[in-house]
Amino acid sequence: MRGYANLTRVAETAQRLIDELDPPFLVNEHELRVTASIGISVYPQDGPDIVTLLKNADTAMYQAKAEGGRAFHFFTEEMNARVLNRVTLDKNLHLALEHQEFVLLYQPQVDGASGQITGVEALIRWHHPQQGEISPAQFIPAAEESGIINGIGDWVLNQACLQTRRWLDLGLPELTMAVNISAVQLRQPNFVDKVMAALSRHGLPAEYLELEITESALIRDTQRIVRILNELRQQGVRLSVDDFGTGYSSLAYLKNLPFDKIKIDQSFIRGIPEREDDAAITEVIIGIAKSLKMELIAEGVETEEQYAFLLQHHCQQMQGFFFGKPMPAAVIEQRLRQSVEASPDQ
Ligand code: C2E
Ligand code: MG
Ligand code: MG
Repeated sequence: MRGYANLTRVAETAQRLIDELDPPFLVNEHELRVTASIGISVYPQDGPDIVTLLKNADTAMYQAKAEGGRAFHFFTEEMNARVLNRVTLDKNLHLALEHQEFVLLYQPQVDGASGQITGVEALIRWHHPQQGEISPAQFIPAAEESGIINGIGDWVLNQACLQTRRWLDLGLPELTMAVNISAVQLRQPNFVDKVMAALSRHGLPAEYLELEITESALIRDTQRIVRILNELRQQGVRLSVDDFGTGYSSLAYLKNLPFDKIKIDQSFIRGIPEREDDAAITEVIIGIAKSLKMELIAEGVETEEQYAFLLQHHCQQMQGFFFGKPMPAAVIEQRLRQSVEASPDQ
C-alpha cells in the first residue's frame, strides 16, 4: 500500500471500528461494554507474508493497549507518527475553514516597462492559532489528497472575486485577479458553475478573473479537462498555464487548450542571466508565446539583472520579489492609489 491517502483511509476505518464498538451492548438487560484496540501492519513494509504481518499487527495492538486502549497503532513508530500527523492535519484543515483561519495575500503582476500593476495573484496563507503562518506548500498537497481543497478553493474564489469588486468600486485602476486552481478542483462536476456563481455573487465580469492551472493538472482526464476549460473560456474567464516548463511542457496543450497566458516557471528565471541553459530556455518560451500569440509572464523575478534580461527579450509582464512580495489587500490598495496619483490624467 502506497501513499498517505491510503494509510489515512486505513486509520479512518480503524477509528470508525473503534467508535462503532464504543456504545454499550444490551445483553439480557445488562449493559456490556467492550473497547477495541487495533494493531495495523502494512504490506510489504512490515512483513513479506501473512504470518509476519499478523505477528507484527499483534505487537502493534499491544502497543495500542499499552497507550491506554480504545485506539489504533501502526507497527512502526515512524508510520504511526506520520499517519497521526496527517489525520491531525486533515482535522485541523476542516476546522481552519470553519474558524476562518485562512487569508489571501496578493502579489503584484506588473508591466515591466511602465512598472504599472496590471494584475495580482491571490496566494493563500493559513494563520494557525498555535503554529502561526503556514505556507500553502505545507498544506495544499494534504488538502488535495483528502478533498478539503474543494472547500478551501471555493472560499479562495469567493474571497478573490469579492476583493476585486471592492477595488473596482473604489475606482482604482482595473486589474486581473489570478487564482490558483488545483487539479482536484478542476475535476469537480460543477466547477464551471461554482466559478460563475462566485463571479455573479459579486457582480464581477468574467474577464477580471484568471485561473492559473499547472501543467501537471492537465495530464489525467485530458478530454474532460479540455471541455471544462473550453466552457470557462467561452464564459469569458481567462486561463493561464502556471509553472510552465516544469511538467511535460507539452506543446499540444498550448495548441489544443484555450489558454490566454503562459507563466514561465521561476526555476528558469532564477538562473538568468548567468546560466546559459536557463537563459536559452527562457528565450525559447518567450518565442513560443509570441508565435502562438499568447500572453506571457515571468514569475520569480528577484533581481535587476533578471528584470533587464526579460525586458531586453520582450517579456513584458513580470512577477516577483523585485516588484513586491505577496501582501495584504490594504497594501495593494495603497500601491494602486499611489499609481493613480502619479498619473492623474488616467
Ligand atoms: P505558484 O502559483 O507558482 O505561486 C508562486 C509562488 O512563488 C508563491 O509561493 C510566491 O510567494 C512565490 N514567489 C513569488 N515571487 C517570488 C520570488 O521572486 N522569489 C521566490 N523565491 N518566490 C517567489 P507561495 O505563496 O508559497 O505558494 C506556493 C504554491 O502554492 C503556489 O505556487 C500554488 O501552486 C499553491 N497555492 C497558493 N495559493 C493557492 C490557492 O489559493 N489555491 C491552490 N489550489 N493553490 C495555491
Ligand atoms: Mg500560481
Ligand atoms: Mg508558479
